[in-house]
Amino acid sequence: MDLPYSSGATFLGAAPADGGAARFAVAGVPYDGAVTNRPGARFGPAAIRAASRMLCDAVHPLFECSPQADLVDVGDLALPVTCLSDHRGALQAAAAELMRAHHVCWLGGDHSITLALLRAQRQVQGRPLAIVHFDAHCDTWSDHFGEPSGHGTWMREAIEEELIVPPAAIQIGLRSPAAAEARQCVERAGGCIFTARQLRGLEGTQALAPIAGEIRRRVLAAGKPPAYLTLDIDCLDPAFAPGTGTPEAGGLSTAQVLTLLEELHDIAWTGMDCVEVAPAYDHAEITSLAAASFVWTYLCGQLAKGATPA
Ligand code: MN
Ligand code: MN
Repeated sequence: MDLPYSSGATFLGAAPADGGAARFAVAGVPYDGAVTNRPGARFGPAAIRAASRMLCDAVHPLFECSPQADLVDVGDLALPVTCLSDHRGALQAAAAELMRAHHVCWLGGDHSITLALLRAQRQVQGRPLAIVHFDAHCDTWSDHFGEPSGHGTWMREAIEEELIVPPAAIQIGLRSPAAAEARQCVERAGGCIFTARQLRGLEGTQALAPIAGEIRRRVLAAGKPPAYLTLDIDCLDPAFAPGTGTPEAGGLSTAQVLTLLEELHDIAWTGMDCVEVAPAYDHAEITSLAAASFVWTYLCGQLAKGATPA
């Protein structure tokens, strides 16, 4: 089934085949039925793929590699597009199958997709995960504007469902208005929060080393569970990512996030997603290019790690 908001382009020009033996795969989840403010993240996967074409003609400048040869783009998953519970059920089943075949990077879609992806990861890995969560929002609300679940509740639900190891849950970039009860949920569960305020002025590898060190320490202390990375593009300041549904002023820079991704590449990642890119509000593709660069950097970091085991 072709979705009207999918495009024929593939991420980095990777082969569109599925079912192959490629180590890595990219998959789109063009669902935005659980947003609370501006809709449009269903157009995210197509925009990220289009922006990724800027990155496909040579090697990564730090990791000195390029993932295309070991990457397939399986396209956008054809899933229910309105009912959240139906969507999540279908996504979990499709995701588990893909995760058994590939190390998958998911292009959102709104952040509600991450709960289904974590359920699939938990199922495939057979154990709860460490999680590193970049976001302006805590996503631990207990009420989603009168509904029980949405793009702002999945982290709390993941803790309650024991999909993740709470002491190895790290949130980065939080700054939106929220009652303390929701905002501090991960800390109360034993995890760790680095607010956007705490990261102000910290640029470069040396300045960000204590953050990367604390993440590494927590994953190690939890017994090195497989780690999942979820990148809500609104972790970035609206100056760097205007193309998103729920922008919050005073956020991270693209360079700060890239530095952390580079420094953390040797964590035992088992997958990642980049969500909440809503291209209708973007300017000059800066949001989708940031998203494409994050996924590309993640992939190249995994390849570099494979070449020289940490
Ligand atoms: Mn989020
Ligand atoms: Mn957010």
